[in-house]
Amino acid sequence: MKITYNSTRNKNEEVTASQAILRGLATDGGLYVPSSIPKLDKTIDELVNMSYKEVAYEVMKLFLNDFTEEELKNCIDKAYDDKFDTEDMVQLVRADGMYYLELFHGKTIAFKDMALSILPHLLTTSAKKNKVNNDIVILTATSGDTGKAALAGFADVDNTEIIVFYPKDGVSPIQEKQMVTQKGKNTHVIGIKGNFDDAQNGVKEMFNDKKLNKLLKDKGYQFSSANSINIGRLVPQIVYYVYVYTLLVGAEEIKNGDVINVVVPTGNFGNILAAYYAKRMGLPIAKLICASNENKVLYDFFESGKYDKNREFILTQSPSMDILISSNLERMIYSIAGMDDKTTAKMMNDLKKKGAYTITEDMKMRLMDFIGMYADEETTSKTIKDVFDKSEYLIDTHTAVAASAAYDYKAHLNDEHPIVIASTASPYKFTRSVMNSLNKDYDKMSDFELVDEMEKISEVKVPEAINEIRTADILHKTVCEKEDMVKEVKKILAID
Ligand SMILES: *Cc1c(COP(=O)(O)O)cnc(C)c1O
Repeated sequence: MKITYNSTRNKNEEVTASQAILRGLATDGGLYVPSSIPKLDKTIDELVNMSYKEVAYEVMKLFLNDFTEEELKNCIDKAYDDKFDTEDMVQLVRADGMYYLELFHGKTIAFKDMALSILPHLLTTSAKKNKVNNDIVILTATSGDTGKAALAGFADVDNTEIIVFYPKDGVSPIQEKQMVTQKGKNTHVIGIKGNFDDAQNGVKEMFNDKKLNKLLKDKGYQFSSANSINIGRLVPQIVYYVYVYTLLVGAEEIKNGDVINVVVPTGNFGNILAAYYAKRMGLPIAKLICASNENKVLYDFFESGKYDKNREFILTQSPSMDILISSNLERMIYSIAGMDDKTTAKMMNDLKKKGAYTITEDMKMRLMDFIGMYADEETTSKTIKDVFDKSEYLIDTHTAVAASAAYDYKAHLNDEHPIVIASTASPYKFTRSVMNSLNKDYDKMSDFELVDEMEKISEVKVPEAINEIRTADILHKTVCEKEDMVKEVKKILAID
């Protein structure tokens, strides 16, 4: 069956995969979803002997079915190369009875590299396929991780420009250093005097600014977005769930057909949705455990069936999960509503107007394979220390939220099936929080002293991404008022 993509809020808005990638968001504000979830057309036995890139092709070809074999393989080859510090892109580590799927071996040592290293190529290929001759201008507002991963992904990709706005005083020193040292003739990084919401709103306004869009078009440009609701980010994330299963079978840790449970530290619901799609493709995943930090909107949702963002926003040591609106959940809502666009549109409207919505009992039933769990700050730190004490394996704060959920699940639900934990960042990315979890005295050390100390105790080499920024030149120095974002964009593109 030929798969097309339609908006979660309007089934009649139907496009091809490449058009969905180009547009990002549907015009009615909905998210693009595949008209059906394809089944894997290779057996696990066939997949076991394949490399990461080969598995990527087998999974992605089923979703991106208007790409030719050559186009898709070309994208995969350009994305998954020596930008990764491990031959097979990911690594599987067993520690204290759990399997950690390390997804942080790319350029920016967090899992967003898995998708953002291929998205630029999917996007430029989609532009060519749809006879778009404009250069693509990626506009992104970031609270830290996405900006750097997008910059690294798009750097020096032909026919693209990337402009990243970040809150000047709202990201960690390491995150800022990572961004302002970014190389590449098409990369632009601007600090704004405001918070993340100001940056986000400014970007949204530019996307919707008809005059600006017209001006861009006249000069041979068009905007696009790299954020996690693009199906060009979702589809590449399905790959590693299929791949980890083949690794487990290949290493004889499990038998072909055995079920596994998956735990995902969750923010925007993109990563765990990819795991759900993998399950729907036929992968033997039993439970999908959704782990939250103290911003536990999703935990409450799985418990009660009510999604309610009206609550205090808490800054935690797992900042990439500090989110009150999990955008990708909309795709799940559409699925459990029986692919009913009207119901989805109504609930999303409630979310916008009242900040909350409640799903029906039928819909709740269809969420049975999901379990929500959460860890508070103290538990997260304790988990880092416990795992390290027991197995000398050092995990980052986001992964620790998931590990805590994994231990909880195992202890309380009497389920002995293997657990795979999605390990989303290197501990070197959140050095201070991780080291403080081991011993509060570390807080006295400077950022780079902590890096060296972490190398000593963990016996894991400092990643290139960290060494690079020790000495790198600052290449981006622009800081602007939040009202001047448009002016800056025009200046960069020389279209004023
Ligand atoms: C983005 C991010 C997450 C959350 O992933 P979602 O797909 O948004 O749920 C978790 N951990 C890290 C390190 C991240 O950067």
